[in-house]
Amino acid sequence: MAIATLSLSQRIERCREFCAPYRITDGEKFRLKKIDPGDTGDLESEDKPRAKEVLTIGVNTLAELQERLYADDQWGVLLMFQAMDAAGKDGTIKHVMSGVNPQGCQVWSFKVPSSEDLDHDFLWRYLKNTPERGRIGIFNRSYYEEVLVVKVHKEILANEKLPASLVTKSIWKHRYEDIRNIEKYLARNGYVICKFFLHLSKKEQKRRFLERLNTPSKNWKFSSADINERGYWDDYAQAYEEMIQATASKYAPWYVVPADNKWFSRLVVAAAIIDALGALDLQFPKVGEEKVAEFAAARATLEKA
Ligand code: AMP
Ligand code: MG
Repeated sequence: MAIATLSLSQRIERCREFCAPYRITDGEKFRLKKIDPGDTGDLESEDKPRAKEVLTIGVNTLAELQERLYADDQWGVLLMFQAMDAAGKDGTIKHVMSGVNPQGCQVWSFKVPSSEDLDHDFLWRYLKNTPERGRIGIFNRSYYEEVLVVKVHKEILANEKLPASLVTKSIWKHRYEDIRNIEKYLARNGYVICKFFLHLSKKEQKRRFLERLNTPSKNWKFSSADINERGYWDDYAQAYEEMIQATASKYAPWYVVPADNKWFSRLVVAAAIIDALGALDLQFPKVGEEKVAEFAAARATLEKA
């Protein structure tokens, strides 16, 4: 049956099945090498135009669910995006969230920490920006940078003003534990958490960097610092793997999204968010008898005026 004719609950069910292969809720056996960045599931490149249509339906479904989330005003949704440069975080956020009411959405892009940030604990700047209930918060990069870029470049850790006695071999284990605990805490307080790792191949990154260099309208996206980070590819791959192993959970799953094909990665992300919101069984709040009586009075007043 064409997806456009399906009911909301049927569309949610389709999305659940579609994103399931990419969801990690228990990281123990996770191996990054087993995930192919070029994977497009059952779809072929000929399906690309159809995939774009399906994404439009996904975007509309997300808008429907977001309206309910806002009206219900109890759950907060936190979406985190992590990836190597040029994996398509910004484009994914732009496309997947394009139908969502901006008032119901809060986006934060985390860059190199400021001196005020460094005067606090490593979670501080992120936790003060969690979304309000009823809203979707998007972290474009997140506290996971604290076990990625900071782990790959030890000099960044040295700059974090931590007392020397606390910087031990166990620091990464401790950070994973703190992250797991904080995510459990948030989940127990009504937060739905989805974490996306857009998994790009080194070869496709090269192609996209060259495209940025060779296309005038894309030149602004190019940064020499990105070429430098590319030199640490294997260290990052290891850091990503360890991070997912240590922090995937049922209440805050990681989605490892094959990202060499943007049309496919966007579908997986949209499906995962629809699945997460769909699982809340959100309904528009019903008005009580008292309110119905108030409505009758309001109607009568309006009709007289
Ligand atoms: P972009 O997202 O491409 O604009 O780049 C942001 C830069 O900020 C990236 O190089 C990140 O690695 C860096 N960054 C983000 N969060 C942190 C952090 N907590 N510590 C150090 N660098 C960070
Ligand atoms: Mg960048």
